Amino acid sequence: MSWLDEFDTRLAALDAQALRRTRRRVRPGPGATMVVDGVPLLAFCSNDYLGLTQAGALKAAVHAAVDTYGVGAGASPMVSGHSEANAALETELAQAVQLPRALYFYAGYATNASIVPALVGPGDAVFSDALNHACLIDGARLSKAGVHRYAHADLAGLAAALQASPARRKLVISDAVFSMDGDVADLRALLALCEAHDALLLLDDAHGFGVLGPQGRGALAAAGLTGPGASNRVLYMSTLSKAIGVAGAFVAGTDRLIEWLLQKTRSYTYATAAPALLAEAARAALRVVLGDEGEALRQRLQARIAQLRAGLAPGADAALDAAGWRLMPSATAIQPLVVGSAEAALALMAQLREQGLWVPAIRPPTVPAGTARLRIALSAAHEEADVQRLLQALQAAAARSYR
Ligand SMILES: *Cc1c(COP(=O)(O)O)cnc(C)c1O
Repeated sequence: MSWLDEFDTRLAALDAQALRRTRRRVRPGPGATMVVDGVPLLAFCSNDYLGLTQAGALKAAVHAAVDTYGVGAGASPMVSGHSEANAALETELAQAVQLPRALYFYAGYATNASIVPALVGPGDAVFSDALNHACLIDGARLSKAGVHRYAHADLAGLAAALQASPARRKLVISDAVFSMDGDVADLRALLALCEAHDALLLLDDAHGFGVLGPQGRGALAAAGLTGPGASNRVLYMSTLSKAIGVAGAFVAGTDRLIEWLLQKTRSYTYATAAPALLAEAARAALRVVLGDEGEALRQRLQARIAQLRAGLAPGADAALDAAGWRLMPSATAIQPLVVGSAEAALALMAQLREQGLWVPAIRPPTVPAGTARLRIALSAAHEEADVQRLLQALQAAAARSYR
């Protein structure tokens, strides 16, 4: 039998373990609703934390950009793809995150998967938080550096590993906001360890840029680590596909680090540049994020977070208490409700879906066994009544399962 025929058996094995993934066909509906396979659902599954994917200012910027630039970029940025729009976006991104220089990429995944191998190689050492996003992990693997994985947020473990490492080049990589837990890394402590051990820190703030810190400047600014006194040993990366509402990503840091990445990052050199229409959309999004409207959107988001957490707090509802579901201690828009088994999480997701709500269940291996959860993602696009509906549906599901 050819090994190609085994793909049928292997797919069947995924079915047997309930691990086959499927996609749903969606289109945006009003507010935070999505039409999912033709059925409108109130969605708590998007990383569009400020509701900018549907914002008029971004749409207008795209329309204008298409008239000026057309659609595709036509070539790598190293040849003829580096549009005036992309260049302006890089300047504005660096200003937004208060670091000297930024480089704009067409995708977040490719950014991390390729900047890590540009920074370190065989004989060097990468130190990686156990809950890091897949693209940081893949970047570390591609680099062929030695990889030390430390337990989530275990700074003592990281310090010991840095101390013990004989490598001359040490790179610490971490999500700033962890995507399945919603907690924020201790950036000051991470940076202090990097200072002490002559290491470089690469932060992925995909879930923080636009929502955290003064004017949404991100987790590094929230920690007071940007501006004139910023460390020269930090690289700040974020996507533009989440709170910014567009697509693409960027990495920011000192001029010499960014110049090196420009020279050596293969996914930058050998990929067609991001279309100018996306850069113009991201520029429009930055103006919103940094301005009064962004402030108002972040306040709305904070109000929804507080509302959800109050409604799911111990003592708020007897049925919820009896169910034993556990809201993780997150202050961000990512509010995971730990249910336990994969089956229980899927059953709860299905019950909510019957009520017209779409809240994704996250199962092992994405999260540790026994901690399957609903990953509730909140947005400024949610109304108070939307969160109320979710709370009532969760209370009803708890009452049904545990009476
Ligand atoms: C979504 C995400 C990425 C990938 O970004 P894309 O722009 O979607 O490719 C990278 N890192 C983290 C932490 C993410 O959540």
